[in-house]
Amino acid sequence: METLLISACLLGVNCKYNGGSNALPPEALERLRQRCRLIPVCPEAAGGLPIPREPSERRGDRVVSRSGQDVTAAFLRGAETAAALAERFGAKKALLKSNSPSCGSGMIYDGSFSGTLTPGDGVAAEYLKRKNVDIFHDILELFQD
Ligand code: SF4
Repeated sequence: METLLISACLLGVNCKYNGGSNALPPEALERLRQRCRLIPVCPEAAGGLPIPREPSERRGDRVVSRSGQDVTAAFLRGAETAAALAERFGAKKALLKSNSPSCGSGMIYDGSFSGTLTPGDGVAAEYLKRKNVDIFHDILELFQD
């Protein structure tokens, strides 16, 4: 059975900045559970940020909260924790929430807090890619083989 790192909020954990989750539909969760050993991680919480918390967005190599606080160090700690979990459990793939400043892959919010997306990766996704973990944000993509 394949080991898969997964954004905890996709599993229904209430770790989003607003205290909610991004739970996948029950049938998708069931399919994941049948085919994968799931290793959940919320990089932002693992990095020490509270739940709920202010939303944050990337601005280049920095991450700032909506009020302007620099939260880069917490995001980096969370990315390191995610990579350490992937290595510890042998996860070569990760299913991560799209658009997030931590978990997003390919497109993320642009740092203006206006809901505008721009090409880029979240901090944890970027870190995991450097460790040769393949990132997916769509369960269909993951199971296309
Ligand atoms: Fe979900 Fe990732 Fe945001 Fe945590 S950091 S709430 S796992 S998208």
